[in-house]
Amino acid sequence: MIPGPFIYHRPASLAEALTVLSTHGDEARPLAGGHSLIPMMKLRMASPEHLIDLGGIKDLRGICETAGDIVIGATTTQAELIKSDLLAAKLPIIRETAQQIADPQIRAKGTLGGNVANGDPGNDMPAVMQALGAQYVLQGSGGKRSVPARDFYQGSYFTALQQDEILVAVQIPAPPAGHGYAYEKLKRKIGDYATAATAVILTVSGGKVSSASIALTNVAPTPLFAAEAAKLIIGTACDAATLQRAAEAAKAIADPATDGRGTAEYRREMAGVMTARALAKAFARAKTGA
Ligand SMILES: Cc1cc2nc3c(=O)[nH]c(=O)nc-3n(C[C@H](O)[C@H](O)[C@H](O)COP(=O)(O)OP(=O)(O)OC[C@H]3O[C@@H](n4cnc5c(N)ncnc54)[C@H](O)[C@@H]3O)c2cc1C
Repeated sequence: MIPGPFIYHRPASLAEALTVLSTHGDEARPLAGGHSLIPMMKLRMASPEHLIDLGGIKDLRGICETAGDIVIGATTTQAELIKSDLLAAKLPIIRETAQQIADPQIRAKGTLGGNVANGDPGNDMPAVMQALGAQYVLQGSGGKRSVPARDFYQGSYFTALQQDEILVAVQIPAPPAGHGYAYEKLKRKIGDYATAATAVILTVSGGKVSSASIALTNVAPTPLFAAEAAKLIIGTACDAATLQRAAEAAKAIADPATDGRGTAEYRREMAGVMTARALAKAFARAKTGA
């Protein structure tokens, strides 16, 4: 349980961090809250020779609104997401999800950037970011680019992040006021990763769903954007038969492994149950537009 030796860097600027990263190549890794990386180093599943602590870079932290988008700095902690009045008003699904991550000690240090950049299919925020249509803003030696959360995840711990890049922010288009939302997570106990979980964002007009997006956590090697399930509920009032059809569509794309949280069959079934519950809750919360 003791990590291998490493050199610790604490740059004060993003430019400095990028220089250290490009100088040391594969041997360097950014360090944010450390609540995924340090356990992996202790288990010798990761042995970076250079750790680049992003905690000293002030520009990477904070939450603001610009031109209809909410921009969250990569090193903003999960605890700060929960405390943010702006997020509570504009993106309440983020607070609802952050409250279901781990425990208060981990949320005090764990960051949004680390949660989404890690590529762990058990992490809760990636599916939420897919449901919200978020963009990940990445900065590397060659400049800045944005990658949609829906295109970022390539496999378990494999993402579109290049070795010389740092995730600097997550940019989220604010859904309309009165939208419905829910993050339903089945877990064995407080502090556990999801057995299965579903994020839903929808809008309702004239008593019927007018737009919807759905994404699933921890039922495949990557988060899953459930486009077919979302299509099925458009134009409906989320009646029981429609919820069942959407649940079946979510189950059809799920590909969970058997693990300590249950068999593959059970976890696929729970992906459907979480989807139906999240849809029903989001619909009940939405304010009906004209
Ligand atoms: C007991 C326990 C239970 C947990 N339960 C849950 C849970 O239920 N749900 C959940 O979602 N998470 C859970 N976590 C994980 C926790 O949320 C982590 O904090 C989070 O996954 C990683 O964030 P971090 O800031 O700690 O990142 P770190 O551990 O510092 O980094 C994780 C990875 O991301 C990379 N990285 C970090 N920041 C950046 C960046 N800005 N740019 C590029 N790469 C970056 C690092 O190089 C590393 O590879 C749990 C952790 C523990 C220890």
